[in-house]
Amino acid sequence: MSAPIIKIDGISKSFGTFKVLDGLSMQVMPREKLALIGPSGSGKTTILRILMTLERIDSGHIQIDGEQLYHMERNGQLLPADERHLARMRQKIGMVFQLFNLFPHKSVIDNVTLAPILTKGIPRAAAEKRAMELLDMVGMADKAKAMPAQLSGGQKQRVAIARALALQPRIMLFDEVTSALDPELVEEVLNVLWRLCSETDMTMLLVTHEMGFAHDFADRVLFFDRGKIVEEGKPDEIFRNPKQERTQGFLKKII
Ligand code: ADP
Repeated sequence: MSAPIIKIDGISKSFGTFKVLDGLSMQVMPREKLALIGPSGSGKTTILRILMTLERIDSGHIQIDGEQLYHMERNGQLLPADERHLARMRQKIGMVFQLFNLFPHKSVIDNVTLAPILTKGIPRAAAEKRAMELLDMVGMADKAKAMPAQLSGGQKQRVAIARALALQPRIMLFDEVTSALDPELVEEVLNVLWRLCSETDMTMLLVTHEMGFAHDFADRVLFFDRGKIVEEGKPDEIFRNPKQERTQGFLKKII
Protein backbone atom coordinates (compact mmCIF):
# COMPACT_ATOMS: atom_id res chain seq x y z
CA MET A 1 0.00 0.00 0.00
CA SER A 2 1.30 3.47 -0.89
CA ALA A 3 1.92 6.27 1.58
CA PRO A 4 -0.56 9.14 2.09
CA ILE A 5 0.03 12.18 -0.10
CA ILE A 6 -1.42 14.42 2.63
CA LYS A 7 -0.86 13.64 6.27
CA ILE A 8 -2.28 16.05 8.84
CA ASP A 9 -1.25 15.38 12.42
CA GLY A 10 -2.92 17.14 15.33
CA ILE A 11 -3.17 20.62 13.85
CA SER A 12 -4.75 23.49 15.74
CA LYS A 13 -5.70 26.92 14.48
CA SER A 14 -7.32 29.87 16.20
CA PHE A 15 -8.53 33.20 14.91
CA GLY A 16 -8.20 35.45 17.96
CA THR A 17 -9.78 33.53 20.80
CA PHE A 18 -11.86 31.34 18.48
CA LYS A 19 -10.39 27.88 18.00
CA VAL A 20 -11.37 26.78 14.49
CA LEU A 21 -9.37 23.55 14.46
CA ASP A 22 -8.45 21.70 17.61
CA GLY A 23 -6.01 18.83 17.14
CA LEU A 24 -7.32 17.75 13.74
CA SER A 25 -5.73 14.70 12.08
CA MET A 26 -6.53 13.23 8.69
CA GLN A 27 -4.84 11.47 5.81
CA VAL A 28 -5.45 11.47 2.08
CA MET A 29 -4.13 8.81 -0.27
CA PRO A 30 -2.69 9.59 -3.73
CA ARG A 31 -5.45 9.90 -6.38
CA GLU A 32 -8.14 9.92 -3.70
CA LYS A 33 -11.19 12.17 -4.30
CA LEU A 34 -12.47 13.58 -1.03
CA ALA A 35 -15.60 15.60 -0.31
CA LEU A 36 -15.57 17.78 2.82
CA ILE A 37 -19.11 18.57 3.95
CA GLY A 38 -20.65 20.12 7.05
CA PRO A 39 -22.27 23.27 8.39
CA SER A 40 -20.90 26.75 7.67
CA GLY A 41 -18.13 27.74 10.03
CA SER A 42 -17.02 24.17 10.75
CA GLY A 43 -13.48 24.79 9.46
CA LYS A 44 -13.58 23.18 5.99
CA THR A 45 -12.29 26.20 4.10
CA THR A 46 -9.66 26.83 6.74
CA ILE A 47 -8.21 23.37 6.15
CA LEU A 48 -7.87 24.02 2.41
CA ARG A 49 -6.34 27.45 3.05
CA ILE A 50 -3.85 25.92 5.49
CA LEU A 51 -2.83 23.31 2.90
CA MET A 52 -2.37 26.12 0.38
CA THR A 53 -0.26 28.04 2.97
CA LEU A 54 -2.73 30.95 2.91
CA GLU A 55 -3.19 30.48 6.66
CA ARG A 56 -0.58 29.23 9.13
CA ILE A 57 -1.15 26.59 11.80
CA ASP A 58 -0.61 27.24 15.51
CA SER A 59 0.58 23.69 16.22
CA GLY A 60 0.78 20.22 14.73
CA HIS A 61 2.38 18.90 11.55
CA ILE A 62 1.43 18.51 7.92
CA GLN A 63 3.26 16.34 5.41
CA ILE A 64 2.69 16.67 1.69
CA ASP A 65 4.11 13.93 -0.46
CA GLY A 66 6.36 12.77 2.38
CA GLU A 67 7.77 16.26 3.07
CA GLN A 68 6.95 18.61 5.93
CA LEU A 69 4.90 21.60 4.78
CA TYR A 70 5.50 24.05 7.63
CA HIS A 71 8.84 22.69 8.75
CA MET A 72 12.19 21.94 7.13
CA GLU A 73 14.29 18.98 8.11
CA ARG A 74 17.91 20.03 8.57
CA ASN A 75 20.47 17.62 10.06
CA GLY A 76 17.73 15.67 11.80
CA GLN A 77 16.15 18.83 13.24
CA LEU A 78 12.78 20.32 12.42
CA LEU A 79 13.00 24.04 11.77
CA PRO A 80 10.18 26.41 10.79
CA ALA A 81 9.81 26.53 7.00
CA ASP A 82 11.20 29.58 5.22
CA GLU A 83 9.52 31.32 2.24
CA ARG A 84 11.55 29.34 -0.28
CA HIS A 85 10.48 26.04 1.20
CA LEU A 86 6.82 27.16 1.29
CA ALA A 87 6.97 28.36 -2.33
CA ARG A 88 8.36 25.02 -3.46
CA MET A 89 5.76 23.05 -1.51
CA ARG A 90 2.96 25.29 -2.82
CA GLN A 91 3.73 24.16 -6.36
CA LYS A 92 2.45 20.70 -5.51
CA ILE A 93 -1.00 22.13 -4.81
CA GLY A 94 -3.56 24.08 -6.84
CA MET A 95 -6.62 25.79 -5.43
CA VAL A 96 -9.83 27.11 -6.92
CA PHE A 97 -11.84 29.61 -4.88
CA GLN A 98 -15.50 30.39 -4.49
CA LEU A 99 -15.03 33.85 -6.05
CA PHE A 100 -12.73 32.90 -8.94
CA ASN A 101 -10.02 35.48 -8.06
CA LEU A 102 -8.94 35.95 -11.67
CA PHE A 103 -6.55 38.83 -12.37
CA PRO A 104 -9.08 41.37 -13.71
CA HIS A 105 -6.66 43.29 -15.95
CA LYS A 106 -5.21 40.21 -17.64
CA SER A 107 -6.76 38.32 -20.53
CA VAL A 108 -7.95 34.75 -20.06
CA ILE A 109 -4.79 33.26 -21.55
CA ASP A 110 -2.53 35.60 -19.55
CA ASN A 111 -4.33 34.51 -16.37
CA VAL A 112 -3.37 30.93 -17.18
CA THR A 113 0.23 31.56 -18.31
CA LEU A 114 1.29 34.07 -15.65
CA ALA A 115 2.29 31.67 -12.88
CA PRO A 116 4.07 29.10 -15.09
CA ILE A 117 6.12 31.90 -16.70
CA LEU A 118 6.91 33.75 -13.46
CA THR A 119 7.32 30.93 -10.95
CA LYS A 120 8.58 28.12 -13.14
CA GLY A 121 10.39 30.13 -15.82
CA ILE A 122 8.56 28.33 -18.62
CA PRO A 123 9.07 30.10 -21.99
CA ARG A 124 6.01 32.07 -23.10
CA ALA A 125 5.37 30.01 -26.24
CA ALA A 126 5.37 26.72 -24.32
CA ALA A 127 3.22 28.21 -21.54
CA GLU A 128 0.69 29.46 -24.11
CA LYS A 129 0.55 26.11 -25.88
CA ARG A 130 -0.18 24.35 -22.61
CA ALA A 131 -2.66 27.06 -21.59
CA MET A 132 -4.62 26.54 -24.83
CA GLU A 133 -4.80 22.80 -24.16
CA LEU A 134 -6.14 23.48 -20.67
CA LEU A 135 -8.60 26.10 -21.89
CA ASP A 136 -9.77 23.61 -24.49
CA MET A 137 -10.30 21.03 -21.77
CA VAL A 138 -12.52 23.40 -19.78
CA GLY A 139 -14.33 24.53 -22.96
CA MET A 140 -12.89 28.05 -22.93
CA ALA A 141 -10.38 28.02 -25.83
CA ASP A 142 -12.52 30.40 -27.91
CA LYS A 143 -12.36 32.99 -25.10
CA ALA A 144 -8.58 32.97 -24.73
CA LYS A 145 -8.26 36.67 -25.65
CA ALA A 146 -11.30 37.81 -23.62
CA MET A 147 -11.03 39.79 -20.39
CA PRO A 148 -12.54 38.34 -17.17
CA ALA A 149 -15.23 41.09 -17.04
CA GLN A 150 -16.63 39.78 -20.35
CA LEU A 151 -17.24 36.30 -18.93
CA SER A 152 -20.11 34.73 -17.01
CA GLY A 153 -19.45 33.36 -13.52
CA GLY A 154 -19.34 29.81 -14.82
CA GLN A 155 -16.86 30.78 -17.52
CA LYS A 156 -14.67 32.62 -15.00
CA GLN A 157 -14.67 29.59 -12.78
CA ARG A 158 -13.65 27.32 -15.66
CA VAL A 159 -10.73 29.67 -16.43
CA ALA A 160 -9.78 29.63 -12.74
CA ILE A 161 -9.66 25.83 -12.90
CA ALA A 162 -7.44 25.93 -16.01
CA ARG A 163 -5.18 28.44 -14.24
CA ALA A 164 -4.78 26.20 -11.21
CA LEU A 165 -3.99 23.23 -13.46
CA ALA A 166 -1.31 25.14 -15.35
CA LEU A 167 1.25 24.51 -12.62
CA GLN A 168 0.58 20.78 -12.90
CA PRO A 169 -0.18 20.24 -9.24
CA ARG A 170 -0.55 16.75 -7.83
CA ILE A 171 -3.24 17.94 -5.46
CA MET A 172 -6.21 20.15 -6.31
CA LEU A 173 -8.35 21.94 -3.72
CA PHE A 174 -11.82 23.21 -4.61
CA ASP A 175 -13.49 25.57 -2.16
CA GLU A 176 -17.23 25.82 -2.80
CA VAL A 177 -16.50 26.56 -6.43
CA THR A 178 -20.16 26.60 -7.48
CA SER A 179 -21.78 28.42 -4.57
CA ALA A 180 -21.40 31.93 -6.05
CA LEU A 181 -22.89 30.85 -9.38
CA ASP A 182 -26.41 31.25 -10.72
CA PRO A 183 -28.10 27.84 -10.68
CA GLU A 184 -28.04 27.47 -14.48
CA LEU A 185 -24.23 27.89 -14.49
CA VAL A 186 -23.46 25.32 -11.81
CA GLU A 187 -23.61 22.34 -14.11
CA GLU A 188 -20.96 23.54 -16.58
CA VAL A 189 -18.47 23.84 -13.72
CA LEU A 190 -19.45 20.49 -12.21
CA ASN A 191 -18.96 18.92 -15.64
CA VAL A 192 -15.37 20.16 -15.68
CA LEU A 193 -14.79 18.82 -12.15
CA TRP A 194 -16.27 15.54 -13.24
CA ARG A 195 -13.83 15.29 -16.18
CA LEU A 196 -10.89 16.01 -13.88
CA CYS A 197 -12.16 13.45 -11.43
CA SER A 198 -12.60 10.69 -13.99
CA GLU A 199 -9.74 11.48 -16.40
CA THR A 200 -6.83 12.49 -14.17
CA ASP A 201 -5.02 10.88 -11.30
CA MET A 202 -4.76 14.07 -9.27
CA THR A 203 -5.68 13.95 -5.61
CA MET A 204 -8.73 16.17 -5.17
CA LEU A 205 -10.30 17.75 -2.07
CA LEU A 206 -13.68 19.34 -2.58
CA VAL A 207 -15.55 21.52 -0.09
CA THR A 208 -19.12 21.62 -1.31
CA HIS A 209 -22.80 22.01 -0.53
CA GLU A 210 -23.72 20.10 -3.70
CA MET A 211 -24.53 16.83 -1.99
CA GLY A 212 -25.59 15.00 -5.16
CA PHE A 213 -22.29 15.83 -6.80
CA ALA A 214 -20.31 14.99 -3.65
CA HIS A 215 -21.95 11.58 -3.64
CA ASP A 216 -20.98 10.79 -7.23
CA PHE A 217 -17.54 12.44 -7.11
CA ALA A 218 -16.03 11.31 -3.85
CA ASP A 219 -14.29 8.10 -2.87
CA ARG A 220 -14.68 9.24 0.72
CA VAL A 221 -16.81 11.85 2.45
CA LEU A 222 -15.73 13.66 5.62
CA PHE A 223 -18.43 15.32 7.70
CA PHE A 224 -17.11 18.25 9.75
CA ASP A 225 -18.72 19.98 12.66
CA ARG A 226 -17.06 22.58 14.90
CA GLY A 227 -13.57 21.89 13.58
CA LYS A 228 -13.74 18.13 14.00
CA ILE A 229 -14.35 15.19 11.69
CA VAL A 230 -17.53 13.79 13.21
CA GLU A 231 -17.99 11.01 10.69
CA GLU A 232 -16.33 9.72 7.53
CA GLY A 233 -16.98 6.96 5.07
CA LYS A 234 -17.96 6.01 1.56
CA PRO A 235 -20.58 8.30 0.01
CA ASP A 236 -23.33 5.68 0.26
CA GLU A 237 -22.62 5.13 3.95
CA ILE A 238 -22.63 8.85 4.78
CA PHE A 239 -25.56 9.93 2.61
CA ARG A 240 -27.83 6.89 2.94
CA ASN A 241 -26.99 5.64 6.38
CA PRO A 242 -25.25 8.27 8.54
CA LYS A 243 -24.47 6.95 12.00
CA GLN A 244 -23.92 10.15 13.96
CA GLU A 245 -26.82 12.30 15.06
CA ARG A 246 -25.08 15.47 13.93
CA THR A 247 -24.57 14.09 10.41
CA GLN A 248 -28.19 12.96 10.28
CA GLY A 249 -29.39 16.40 11.39
CA PHE A 250 -27.21 18.22 8.85
CA LEU A 251 -28.22 16.01 5.92
CA LYS A 252 -31.90 16.23 6.83
CA LYS A 253 -31.69 20.00 6.65
CA ILE A 254 -29.69 20.25 3.43
CA ILE A 255 -31.11 17.50 1.22
P1 ADP B 1 -16.43 26.52 6.64
O1 ADP B 1 -15.59 26.46 5.40
O2 ADP B 1 -16.71 25.17 7.22
O3 ADP B 1 -17.69 27.32 6.44
P2 ADP B 1 -14.37 28.23 7.69
O4 ADP B 1 -13.14 27.43 7.68
O5 ADP B 1 -14.56 29.21 6.55
O6 ADP B 1 -15.63 27.27 7.79
O7 ADP B 1 -14.47 29.09 9.00
C1 ADP B 1 -14.43 28.54 10.28
C2 ADP B 1 -14.57 29.65 11.27
O8 ADP B 1 -13.41 30.46 11.31
C3 ADP B 1 -15.74 30.59 10.98
O9 ADP B 1 -16.37 30.89 12.21
C4 ADP B 1 -15.08 31.82 10.43
O10 ADP B 1 -15.83 32.99 10.72
C5 ADP B 1 -13.73 31.82 11.11
N1 ADP B 1 -12.70 32.42 10.26
C6 ADP B 1 -12.26 31.94 9.09
N2 ADP B 1 -11.26 32.70 8.57
C7 ADP B 1 -11.08 33.71 9.45
C8 ADP B 1 -10.21 34.85 9.50
N3 ADP B 1 -9.30 35.08 8.54
N4 ADP B 1 -10.30 35.66 10.57
C9 ADP B 1 -11.19 35.43 11.55
N5 ADP B 1 -12.05 34.38 11.58
C10 ADP B 1 -12.01 33.53 10.54
